[in-house]
Amino acid sequence: MAYKQSYGKQGPVVWEKDHAVVEGIDLPGHWNRMFESRVITDYDTSTLDAITSLPGGESLGWCYQCAKCIAVCPVDIVGDYGPRKINRDVMRGMSLLDSHNLWLCTTCQNCLRVCPKEVDMIQIMPAARQAAIEQGQPIPPELQKVFEATDRYGNPLGENPRKRADWVKGAGIPVPILAQLKRPVDVLWYVGSYPSYHPRGIDAARALARIFHALAVDFAILGVEEKEDGDSIRLAGEAGLAEKLCEANVKTFSKYAFKRLVVFGPHEYNAFKNVYPQHGGNYAVSHYTQFLVEHLDRLRELMSRPLDLTVTYHDPCYLSRHNGEYEAPRTLLKAIPGVSLVEMPRNRENGYCCGGGGGGMWLDSFSRDHTTMRLSDKRVIEAVETGAKGLAICCPYEVSRFEDAVKATGNDGQLVVRDIAELIDQSMRGLPSPDVGRG
Ligand code: SF4
Ligand code: SF4
Repeated sequence: MAYKQSYGKQGPVVWEKDHAVVEGIDLPGHWNRMFESRVITDYDTSTLDAITSLPGGESLGWCYQCAKCIAVCPVDIVGDYGPRKINRDVMRGMSLLDSHNLWLCTTCQNCLRVCPKEVDMIQIMPAARQAAIEQGQPIPPELQKVFEATDRYGNPLGENPRKRADWVKGAGIPVPILAQLKRPVDVLWYVGSYPSYHPRGIDAARALARIFHALAVDFAILGVEEKEDGDSIRLAGEAGLAEKLCEANVKTFSKYAFKRLVVFGPHEYNAFKNVYPQHGGNYAVSHYTQFLVEHLDRLRELMSRPLDLTVTYHDPCYLSRHNGEYEAPRTLLKAIPGVSLVEMPRNRENGYCCGGGGGGMWLDSFSRDHTTMRLSDKRVIEAVETGAKGLAICCPYEVSRFEDAVKATGNDGQLVVRDIAELIDQSMRGLPSPDVGRG
């Protein structure tokens, strides 16, 4: 005999037999419990469909809630975030396109590294952001300002494009500009927006120019013809503007003859390596740390002064996880006399994001409103905990982020932030160690 149990309006109807004999074994009733087959009519999938129907958004629907991503998401460590949570919230009716969650992901790729279902936030987030922008959803004003500045001036800082090469005046050595050189070069150095305009970025740009000069590299820059590469603009959702920048840069590059492209920033490296080829721009591109490692023997001869500094190194997401380069920066650091390297617990594949990727560079105050702490602050605390007196970087976004975080976390005077190019230049020029950081 079977009986029927009802669990209310939406619950399943349960059919249970008193007992059943299966292959001679008498099973009690609860082993025979079955649900009546149901047709699900009250489950609204429209908010999930709004994302999975976007080109690039499909994989949000593949999540099976295992939560591996949550343990590694840098935003969850200072908040309440991660692909699993976004998938669940969207399934429960949250519209991602008008949620603050849309702007918090830094596209750091740590979740994709561990996800068994390949839920790809690096595709999902730019697609969803682009859809939000196209639908006229409100976007964070600070990001809107950056989009407008980049469109108008060709750089996200809103600086005068005619002053893009002004930094070369203080380099102390000649920095050739391709249009003036009128001959092919071995290396086209794409400098990037922050090294061209930001005061601390300029310090690093001048340092790298001096290193190239000392190595007798046949190089030149584009100067005022250079424009923002557009990769972070694309990841922040402004695909149209990113494409416009890409086309302008490809057109400029095509005017000149050079053997290889060397870039300062990991975001530019990602752009020229992985995105520009889709738009006809194919280049032999290296990050500057990779290029300098090729000249290690000569560099060792040039670096004369020991720096007496213990440093820890921050892996930039777009050089490391995204593009697999973990060793070149470490090799350079270990080659600098007097520098010893200690690692933070989160390093290499599991490196902690500085918060600057995927448009995060321009969303600091927005992120602060939705997390307990900025990612850059968290990272500086991790660096200080190693006992290192220097935080070595090789991404132009990071110097301003981390120097600000050093102050914000009360570590001024405890930790110096230096680009690897600055440390090499310092040793080459025989300058003393930074004021703090003797380790
Ligand atoms: S790791 Fe992948 S499948 Fe697992 S919860 Fe996160 S997004 Fe979903
Ligand atoms: S890409 Fe990074 S920040 Fe974005 S959800 Fe994944 S782990 Fe979190």
